[in-house]
Amino acid sequence: MTETAPPPAWRLLLGYVRPHRWTLLGGAVLSLLTGATGLLLPLVARGLIDDLAHERAVTGALLAMSALVVVNAVVGALGAYVLRRTAESVVLGARRALSSYLLRLRIAAVDRSEPGDLMARITSDTTLLRTVTSESLVGLATGGLTLAATVVMMGLVDAVLLGVTVAVIAGAGVVIGLIAPRINRATKEAQRAVGLMGAALERVLGALRTVKASGAEAREERALHGAAEESWRQSVRAAKWSAAAGNTAGLAIQVAFLTVLAVGGARVATGAVDVGTLVAFLLYVFFLISPLQQVIGAVTQYQTGAAALVRVQEALRLPAEPPVRAVPLPAPGARPAAVSFRDVRFRYADDLPYVHHGVTFTVPARGMTAFVGPSGAGKTTVFSLIERFYDPESGVIAVDGRDVADWELPELRAAIGYVEQDAPVLSGSLRDNLLLGSPEADADEVARVVRTTRLDGLVARLPDGLETLVGHRGTKLSGGERQRVAIARALLRRPRLLLLDEATSQLDAVNEAALRDTVADVARTTTVLVVAHRLSTVTTADRIVVMDAGRVRAVGTHRELVAGDPLYAELAATQFLAAGG
Ligand code: ADP
Ligand code: MG
Repeated sequence: MTETAPPPAWRLLLGYVRPHRWTLLGGAVLSLLTGATGLLLPLVARGLIDDLAHERAVTGALLAMSALVVVNAVVGALGAYVLRRTAESVVLGARRALSSYLLRLRIAAVDRSEPGDLMARITSDTTLLRTVTSESLVGLATGGLTLAATVVMMGLVDAVLLGVTVAVIAGAGVVIGLIAPRINRATKEAQRAVGLMGAALERVLGALRTVKASGAEAREERALHGAAEESWRQSVRAAKWSAAAGNTAGLAIQVAFLTVLAVGGARVATGAVDVGTLVAFLLYVFFLISPLQQVIGAVTQYQTGAAALVRVQEALRLPAEPPVRAVPLPAPGARPAAVSFRDVRFRYADDLPYVHHGVTFTVPARGMTAFVGPSGAGKTTVFSLIERFYDPESGVIAVDGRDVADWELPELRAAIGYVEQDAPVLSGSLRDNLLLGSPEADADEVARVVRTTRLDGLVARLPDGLETLVGHRGTKLSGGERQRVAIARALLRRPRLLLLDEATSQLDAVNEAALRDTVADVARTTTVLVVAHRLSTVTTADRIVVMDAGRVRAVGTHRELVAGDPLYAELAATQFLAAGG
């Protein structure tokens, strides 16, 4: 898909509009009807005035006129509603497609994107599809039809004068053709600036405490204002060109009027046409204004929408995982899964250095394996590769004896409980957070896990218990509480493989000891991999994998490694102790 050229914007637009083509057509018909009933009104009015002047009964004409006014209003309102509703549905379709897609993005694609910019594409760029649908497509259809009808009428009156008019309008078309790409470019830049603003906002709000504590408000404010001003500048540029395009219709009509007057006058002088014909033709020239404006408006609106569509489409071309499929969690007592790495080489991107230079180890099913090593050694990366957030460049990673590449992704992840290094907690209630990965867990199970992860005290203390809202990124919890929530969340999935990345680093000694017992208990029935910084955790492990600079240095028990591996001996003597172990 990435090798093929992106489809043109109009094809994309039609793709989003196709499901709504019949309602859109209905809306267009209704607005044509509104126009037609509007045109009939002067005719009926003329009859009415005629009747009045000749002192005839006007009841019939009055009734007809009232009916026409009502029909015009009702059809007009209905048409406007149907069009707007359809346009909103097109926006909805685009937003749904984008949201689903963004959830499936490969982590590597997210690493290289700005979440704020992706957010702007879902929220702001899709909004621009609304006007394109309701004004551009319908304007083109109704304006184009009216324009064609008027041109036919003009042709019936006088072909030569029609030629003159068409020439002038074609000139206007050339002008619009020159202006349109500028509107497109300016809109694209304006939307890009909105994306930059989203990214700047995300950056600030994601670390507001740090920004305040660092006294960096003024600098961050400048970045935000800069993005807002850039969006303003580009939108003003787009507005300038749109205004120019909008007035081209009026100008073209004036020019057509004068030209028709001159050419028509000459033709009257030679007797080719009579004065009545010329007057009728001139009236038609003025009839052209409204549809011409509509068509030109459609073209300029389309440029705006096309720019937004391209941005939407760019997001839809980022590398993504296959569509997610709901899979059941492992049954209680499911077989624990072994894990192995064989000569795994990996780097986060082609232009970055290797993080794993041929990592090899085997972890049997059941029991606890600790990963230790200096920061940056590649321990977290081991877990990311097991979860298949990334794919290795070479080598094989197997879970339960099967290459992770051969697993169906949702099934692989359903088998694993993963506690990330910084134990993210989502905004929402405590319950939402606990049940994120196991929505079906029953109350007894939740209560049991809450107890074993020592969250029961917290739950009892909180005003609304499990229903208490924990704030954006769990800001209303302490670091240790967040870690225990994350561990409980992973345990509730009854994983066949549990990955704990420094999951107890922020716990106090009492809680840490309790959680160590819990994890040791879990390790009796499940495979547990822990990245550990505490001697106490490491000494209870069945085996320890020592990593350094993207390689496995040694594997063994604490006793063996203290004696046999100098780096481990040093870590044990300094780092583990310093970490409070
Ligand atoms: P550890 O957990 O052992 O401290 P990591 O596995 O987190 O180490 O990181 C190993 C190396 O990979 C580090 O040098 C780190 O800077 C780099 N790294 C980690 N994550 C990414 C990423 N998403 N993109 C690029 N480089 C990364
Ligand atoms: Mg790490």
